[in-house]
Amino acid sequence: MIPGTYRTNSEEETIAFGRDLARELPRPCLVLLIGNLGAGKTTLTKGIVDGLRAADPDEVSSPTFTLVHDYGGGVFHIDLYRLESEREVATLGLEDLLDRDDAVVLIEWGERFRHLFPGNRIEVEITAANDSRELRVSAIG
Ligand code: ADP
Ligand code: MG
Repeated sequence: MIPGTYRTNSEEETIAFGRDLARELPRPCLVLLIGNLGAGKTTLTKGIVDGLRAADPDEVSSPTFTLVHDYGGGVFHIDLYRLESEREVATLGLEDLLDRDDAVVLIEWGERFRHLFPGNRIEVEITAANDSRELRVSAIG
């Protein structure tokens, strides 16, 4: 499946796409979820986390107060939207998460600090138009 350009036409289809994507993710892996507010980054994460059998979609929300959601089994979900400095990003301990053999680290708004991340990663760029979403999946590095 990866890489490529895909289209979904509903929230449910994006969750289903996330489930499919989950099956193709290597471990460890870093996934940057890129797109504007409301693009569907969290929605896609629900599908990926469900596909990995780490948590139910209902348990997945954008991490705000806790900066890192730990769903267990090496699956982590981070949202950098509210972080402003590299120092704040450094406090997340990303290196430690990615050191795990079983890590799947999903990062919303990762493009804000792209230079801080390992070159070996998957990026999903989501563009919204009404209820349709274009999802461009690329493997970097
Ligand atoms: P983000 O995390 O990128 O800010 P969310 O996943 O929280 O975005 O929100 C996406 C919003 O867009 C939800 O309200 C969802 O219902 C809506 N939506 C409409 N069509 C789609 C689609 N095809 N895929 C994903 N979300 C969609
Ligand atoms: Mg979100």
